[in-house]
Amino acid sequence: MDDNALPSQPELSVVIPLYKEEANIVSLLNTLLPVLKTLPKTHELILVDDGSPDNTWELLKEKAATHPTILALRLSRNFGKEAAIRAGLETAAGQAVITMDGDLQHPPRLIPDMVKAWEQEGAEIVEANKTYRGPESLLNKFGAKIFYYILNKLSGYNISNASDFKLLDRKAVDALLAMNETNMFYRGMTTWLGFKKTKIFFETATRQGGVSTWSFLQRLNLSLTAITSFSVLPLYFVTAIGLLFFLFSIGLGLQTLYHKFSGQAVSGFTTVILLLLVIGSLLMFSLGIIGEYIARIYQEAKGRPRYIVTEKIRRPPESKGEK
Ligand code: UDP
Ligand code: MG
Repeated sequence: MDDNALPSQPELSVVIPLYKEEANIVSLLNTLLPVLKTLPKTHELILVDDGSPDNTWELLKEKAATHPTILALRLSRNFGKEAAIRAGLETAAGQAVITMDGDLQHPPRLIPDMVKAWEQEGAEIVEANKTYRGPESLLNKFGAKIFYYILNKLSGYNISNASDFKLLDRKAVDALLAMNETNMFYRGMTTWLGFKKTKIFFETATRQGGVSTWSFLQRLNLSLTAITSFSVLPLYFVTAIGLLFFLFSIGLGLQTLYHKFSGQAVSGFTTVILLLLVIGSLLMFSLGIIGEYIARIYQEAKGRPRYIVTEKIRRPPESKGEK
């Protein structure tokens, strides 16, 4: 690793997180590099291996050793896509940075349009939005619908068609990197940033090779990160439910006292059981919501690094001519 050997500042950086993508790397580069070459811009391609157990790193090493614009980064273990994107963004030196998936679901042919929107229309963030989400399992499709609905209601962000395929101007990249959270939600954070935005649309292609490695639990965890980092409304729900039950308890209390003093026999055993069950579950539910926020605070308070880089490979730019 030799940082001094980096070529002079590229105009465009492309960041791609890769986890178990050995089946896609060759076709990815075969599609992407020709597109980048047609642009009248110097570029660097930052490929981040997110601790893949397969041959992803061997392939990246080989490609980075032979191609001067490729910088291969290896994380010490699987830190997750969000952290891998962050690693790439922190390494990127370009005046604009494009982030995209490595399974060719984000078509590289859109890149010239993104660069055009950035350069000619002055967009500071160009978002590629999905018009079609691509084939997915029913659970993922349904889960995503519910998640985006809740996030939209809680935070006001409508990002149901957003993807991680974006171009960020240097200003936006620096602003994003100044956001200190350990748990990232890239799509939400770029929305939060503001800046002048343009959208372009694409249909998600089917995955080129391999399989999607996100488990349902990982998606759920990212959803919880998103919700807890963009809204505190769930905490107010707890208060609201408490208030509602307080009002209800005044009414029920008065009625019970009235029955007692008017000498009517109280046969309220069922009511007692039902109330206990309802209140018990509401309390647990509320504790769960509070616990979720505490867990996030705990993770943030530890301030651990988001990822650890073990290797960084880039061919020294001794041979001029190629860009
Ligand atoms: N990815 C990653 N780390 C992970 C999981 C995925 O870097 O722990 C990468 C993966 O290699 C791909 C991108 O993130 O380039 C999107 O992942 P995937 O295709 O599995 O997600 P989906 O398209 O199903 O949302
Ligand atoms: Mg994919």
